[in-house]
Amino acid sequence: MSRRFIVGGNWKMNGDKDKITEIVSNLMRGPLDPNAEVVIGVPSIYLAYVKSIMPDNISVAAQNCWKVPNGAFTGEVSPAMILDVGGEWVILGHSERRTIFNEKDDLIAEKVAHALDTGLNVIACIGESLEERESGKTEEVVFRQIKALLPAIADNWENVVLAYEPVWAIGTGKTATPQQAQDVHASLRHWLALNVSPDVAQNVRIQYGGSVTAANAKELAACSDIDGFLVGGASLKPEFIDIVNASQ
Ligand code: PEP
Repeated sequence: MSRRFIVGGNWKMNGDKDKITEIVSNLMRGPLDPNAEVVIGVPSIYLAYVKSIMPDNISVAAQNCWKVPNGAFTGEVSPAMILDVGGEWVILGHSERRTIFNEKDDLIAEKVAHALDTGLNVIACIGESLEERESGKTEEVVFRQIKALLPAIADNWENVVLAYEPVWAIGTGKTATPQQAQDVHASLRHWLALNVSPDVAQNVRIQYGGSVTAANAKELAACSDIDGFLVGGASLKPEFIDIVNASQ
């Protein structure tokens, strides 16, 4: 089994040119574990700028996209546009998109399908709310979310990374314990083995996201089914380097 450790940064709607230049300079200083893949999700308006200053060993992602190549969709960007300015990835299904922008499973699936068809790689986010966890529905929710994506992903699994992000842990400072995260990752792999294929279950990379910091990353990274992180707040800080290096 060789799943390459992959750490995504999600800057969300943060930064300006000065701050971005500072973060990229810090990433260039590293040192970054050469065995870890790094993908940085940036606000679309800065994609081309970030790409122009980012070293080649770090990929750039958009944080959202629309589901068709072009047309009368005021305010949206398409996967073709993301690719055109050097983006290689897109983050889809983030809980902030699901809750604040009311994106449902079927819309997320349409976006995933179109992004993959266009040639982008996709970080597909899933995760339960606090209420769902407390009522014992974690597996039901994440299985439903992943099931909705199956026709969209079809046989493109090598271009997809799953991010398990319990909503109650995002931006709250409340991290899932390594055991809680590992249990869900293992359940997801088991579900994929039964519903897709043992090969996909074995090879797909599953990131954990939710208040990952330099202080908790090593313990989480040591879990056998955690293949990296999707990092919000800490991706804006120098400690992101330690998170990238957490599997060393
Ligand atoms: C995220 O935005 O995907 C995330 C996990 O945020 P944070 O690390 O700040 O909890």
